[in-house]
Amino acid sequence: MIQTDIIIIGAGPVGLFTVFEAGLLKLKCHLIDSLPQAGGQCSEIYPKKPIYDIPGFPSVLAGELIDNLMEQAAPFKPGFTLGEAAMTIDKTAEGKFIVTTIKGTQHEAPIVMIAGGLGVFEPRKPPIENLESYEDKGVEYIIKDPEFYRGKRVVIAGGGDSALDWSIFLAEKNLAKEVVLVHRSSSFRGHLDSVQKVIDMAGEGKIKLVTEAEVTGITGENIVEGVVITHQKDGEFIQETDHFIPLFGLKPSLGPIADWGFEIDKNAIKVNTLDYSTNIPGIYAIGDVNTYENKLKLILCGFHEGTLAVQSAFARIYPDKKNILKYTTVNGVQGF
Ligand SMILES: Cc1cc2nc3c(=O)[nH]c(=O)nc-3n(C[C@H](O)[C@H](O)[C@H](O)COP(=O)(O)OP(=O)(O)OC[C@H]3O[C@@H](n4cnc5c(N)ncnc54)[C@H](O)[C@@H]3O)c2cc1C
Repeated sequence: MIQTDIIIIGAGPVGLFTVFEAGLLKLKCHLIDSLPQAGGQCSEIYPKKPIYDIPGFPSVLAGELIDNLMEQAAPFKPGFTLGEAAMTIDKTAEGKFIVTTIKGTQHEAPIVMIAGGLGVFEPRKPPIENLESYEDKGVEYIIKDPEFYRGKRVVIAGGGDSALDWSIFLAEKNLAKEVVLVHRSSSFRGHLDSVQKVIDMAGEGKIKLVTEAEVTGITGENIVEGVVITHQKDGEFIQETDHFIPLFGLKPSLGPIADWGFEIDKNAIKVNTLDYSTNIPGIYAIGDVNTYENKLKLILCGFHEGTLAVQSAFARIYPDKKNILKYTTVNGVQGF
């Protein structure tokens, strides 16, 4: 059981900055995220796009903002449970909360902050019969650890940046024994550099590129042994492989959060703007996941919400202690 002061569900920009604000009050945080890396939408959807409305940064790449937030939170040694969706929240007899993830990891704290943004990112799955029965038996939708594919044969499907970049990475580092990239069109949506590199590597025989084709079936008794590729002109053939990785992007859905007893309005959690508390005492909702009159889904609004929510959390944890606002310019940042 992981014990902490505040469990933050969602390691997007708002969850990360809340670690810093909680740390200033000597409250320790543990973040849970279903994605394999921190950063939420900034890392997953637009890491290379510049953001122009973060105070003090005329322009900052979304990925750089996340790096900076991680650095800012580091003195407060946040814990992370990554790659695991939070599935349930239970209350103990002592009034604490236990948050359990899809893999059964349990976390206990007196306070929970939901910073779940648009919700859990679910993979877009291709319409292949029995696809789900091969999940974790050779079918994966996210590459969490490229080492997992060392010495293996891999078929990747997709035409965007992740399909291109992972094909290049697995082939270039000689990790996978064989990399086949299947895409239904002859043009790609990814960066021009990456497209050119895949074409060059295909010319050198390092990637087998199959365009104008789709993976339409999977073969194998209990685990993936091959995929059926249907070419628009040449028809079907079987490609032997150990892994099939469709990388068609991720779509957000509120997911398990919708079933935790919150007042929900238009797919978001209703909060009291006094302190961004939900209808369940001890649980707060901050960032894109909450809603109230005049709500703006902006990073800077989420930073403000997290800052006020931790002040209220402090008062709940230490009802007898008075908390006086201290400027960081005066007190500095005293880490744990
Ligand atoms: C293309 C694009 C451009 C944008 N440009 C700007 C901009 O210029 N300026 C600006 O201010 N904003 C911009 N935004 C919006 C901004 O990205 C969001 O406001 C911000 O990401 C919200 O942060 P968050 O931490 O609340 O949520 P998110 O970034 O969505 O992070 C939430 C995290 O919670 C996780 N999660 C959800 N449910 C669970 C669960 N049950 N268990 C575990 N983990 C869970 C998700 O995996 C996710 O990582 C842009 C958004 C997009 C898509």
